[in-house]
Amino acid sequence: MKGETVDKANTGSRWNTANGTITIVDDLCKGCGLCIEFCPIQVLGKSEHFNEKGYHYPEMLEPEKCVNCGYCQLLCPDFAIWSERDDKQEGERDE
Ligand code: SF4
Ligand code: SF4
Repeated sequence: MKGETVDKANTGSRWNTANGTITIVDDLCKGCGLCIEFCPIQVLGKSEHFNEKGYHYPEMLEPEKCVNCGYCQLLCPDFAIWSERDDKQEGERDE
């Protein structure tokens, strides 16, 4: 499963979740598996594909279940995955 492509220099994908987005830049990943192992909701899986460094990078399996807790982003040593929350309430305006 692939999200929307977001990065042309590297290979990156973004998924829409219920409350925001998750972005994974495949080629920054070193395949440590921390994000997959410690996601509290277990919504990430290891891609069957290799990145340019020869590692299996993570992919989002169930974006609708991700709660954008940001734990994957916190754990990733290579800034290859990050979470963005859309916390704006309906009717809220930009300043
Ligand atoms: S933001 Fe939280 S729930 Fe979503 S993939 Fe990362 S660790 Fe899992
Ligand atoms: S924590 Fe980062 S480097 Fe490790 S598998 Fe996940 S995306 Fe790749």
